[in-house]
Amino acid sequence: MSTIAADPSALVLLSGGLDSTALASLLRPALTVFIDYGQLPHTAESRAAGAVAAHLGLPFERVRLPLRELGGGLMMDDTPLPGSPSPEWWPYRNQFLATAGAAVALRHGLSRVALASVEGDGDRHVDGSQAFYRQLNALMKMQEGGIEVVAPAAQTTTVDLLRQATADRALLGWTVSCHRANEPCGDCPGCWKRELVLAEYLQEG
Ligand SMILES: [Zn+2]
Repeated sequence: MSTIAADPSALVLLSGGLDSTALASLLRPALTVFIDYGQLPHTAESRAAGAVAAHLGLPFERVRLPLRELGGGLMMDDTPLPGSPSPEWWPYRNQFLATAGAAVALRHGLSRVALASVEGDGDRHVDGSQAFYRQLNALMKMQEGGIEVVAPAAQTTTVDLLRQATADRALLGWTVSCHRANEPCGDCPGCWKRELVLAEYLQEG
């Protein structure tokens, strides 16, 4: 577990889930951005992200990046793509999102985009791994603008991230986790993980 310090020149991509909420709370970035890329739960996620940003007192923007024609997995429909490493895999998603975030960061004169991949994400899809972020960062930094792409929590579990952020129930209450619906389905990896994480985290408090 690494300690995550405030980063006022960063932009944080906020999905309204536990990981990005805790990360935004720790980084206190200049801007938080929600991207509607056509994921099924975009309405709930967008509302949650806006509420989390307001709760944390952080500037917030919404961006539309219509990727539904290119999507797949649980966040698109229930049909996994050939070669899919996990049911929720949306091909090249984090690459698209980081690139869109970098374009917004550039416009605002910010130097870094932070995504909330956490420990274990890289086991489910390569674009959640540290190796992926190292490569993407190198690719982004060599381009005009020199924007960095970072995943400060890539070696931190969600429970440890919540502990560091001392996330309270009022903040957690705004967050959403379901991959496939605006109302929690209770039966997807996002819903399962949320239940396990909150049971472990809240029993400590
Ligand atoms: Zn669900």
